[in-house]
Amino acid sequence: MPSGFNINLSNRTIIITGGNRGIGYAYSRACAQAGAQVAIIYRTSKDAPDVAERLHKEFGIKVKAFQCDVSDAEKTTKTFFEIEKQFGNVTGLIANAGVSVVKPALELTSDDFNKIYSVNVLGVFNSARAAAKLWIDTNRNNGSIVITSSMSSRIINQAAPNRALTQAFYNSSKAAVANLMKGLAAEWAPRIRVNAVAPGYVDTDQTRHMDKRIIEHQERNIPLERFAKPEEIAGQALLLLSDHASYMTGGEYLVDGGQLLW
Ligand code: NDP
Repeated sequence: MPSGFNINLSNRTIIITGGNRGIGYAYSRACAQAGAQVAIIYRTSKDAPDVAERLHKEFGIKVKAFQCDVSDAEKTTKTFFEIEKQFGNVTGLIANAGVSVVKPALELTSDDFNKIYSVNVLGVFNSARAAAKLWIDTNRNNGSIVITSSMSSRIINQAAPNRALTQAFYNSSKAAVANLMKGLAAEWAPRIRVNAVAPGYVDTDQTRHMDKRIIEHQERNIPLERFAKPEEIAGQALLLLSDHASYMTGGEYLVDGGQLLW
């Protein structure tokens, strides 16, 4: 399990949506540990400012939480401008906030569709555009955006042998955001790099509600035989934000314990 990263992100400011818990928290911690100032965006968790304060104390770097629903384009743009005002130049974004609904396809509603797509696709777009505006308006040329997609952009998971895990809207939203990433990478090159990290199953609030039997079944299907810890996803995002990835754009990088091998 990684306990620290050797990538240096000092003099950077990174905005991380959903950076207060789960995979996003692992990103926030890894960025702060690598020396970057971190602006965490959360939607409802009241403890997010305390999470930021704890990271600030642990690493002696500026970390602050901002409440913003990324599905609201105007609020997202305003929040990014406010972060730039408070932190100085923003250099990177991890568009990570996401939600899921697990239901059989016949039971999915238009509200479920809007709930998922307004965050997983529109929310990512709003965040990426707000960051790009900061950079393009001021002629800055080395911004890096990392999107959290999912291995489910490529496969439909099996809940049990021959039975799909019922996440039709979630899976399709992740395929949509993976393609959105490619469009933005093409449009904003060579000034802004845009990539995605596609995790397999990760032990977070999003997966903890899953039935134990489904978890066991899934673990048998993963060559590394377990779900990832959030900190095992963070290294790939750190790399993509850094200058080590200066020739990487438009790529979606699996961190899935080998699950797509089988
Ligand atoms: P969690 O459910 O643990 O956390 C979700 C985070 O997103 C929270 O910080 C939440 O804020 C924030 N958020 C949700 N909606 C909004 C919104 N409208 N505006 C701002 N913030 C919002 O998720 P995970 O850590 O499990 O997942 C993170 C990302 O990784 C998601 O995109 C998910 O789809 C993806 N992913 C997860 C996998 C897994 O197995 N866990 C596998 C593959 C991909 P708040 O706390 O305030 O609610």
